[in-house]
Amino acid sequence: MAGDRGSIRKHESGGGGRYGAPVNDDVEPLPQIEMLRSSYIPVFKCTMCARCCAGKVISLFDTDVRRLGEYAESCTEQMDEEEMALTGAERKMRMVDGKCAFLKEGRCTHYDLRPDTCRRHPFIVTRRHVLTASTCSGIDWAGRQLRGTELLRLSMRIAPKIDAYMEALAEERTGRRG
Ligand code: SF4
Ligand code: SF4
Repeated sequence: MAGDRGSIRKHESGGGGRYGAPVNDDVEPLPQIEMLRSSYIPVFKCTMCARCCAGKVISLFDTDVRRLGEYAESCTEQMDEEEMALTGAERKMRMVDGKCAFLKEGRCTHYDLRPDTCRRHPFIVTRRHVLTASTCSGIDWAGRQLRGTELLRLSMRIAPKIDAYMEALAEERTGRRG
């Protein structure tokens, strides 16, 4: 699988991130959040494996909850404190037997109502960072794509928390080195 940690490899210098401050040119695994950081957005084609619809925290912000309409109560649940601190969201999609409440026979039963988290998956793109889900089977690290603006918009609500997480991680690493 192209996105597996086992296949992480070095890339030629890209001259820094396209969405703000330069980021590391290597694809780097991040602790805790099962994502990889890179200096560009890799090419992606969904293989419909539905892996991202199981055992995941699917963050819901107010626009997502509004979009869910009649399903907003029955198909969502409260985040725990750690999830809230990491995402900034208060609610998430409800998991039934470890799978999203909307997932049936490997397909999203309400695709047009899916939250922004699913619309941007497997990416989180902030002004400073490009993160890619390490478990996604549809990533081709050999190619680069230009869908950044839309991904940036779809990541907008989670971006401050992710940037804070990345800062804390960098500080922790600096502290360890110092
Ligand atoms: S994990 Fe990746 S390839 Fe699989 S369904 Fe989700 S987005 Fe598509
Ligand atoms: S809302 Fe649909 S796309 Fe999103 S996790 Fe649930 S089943 Fe998957």
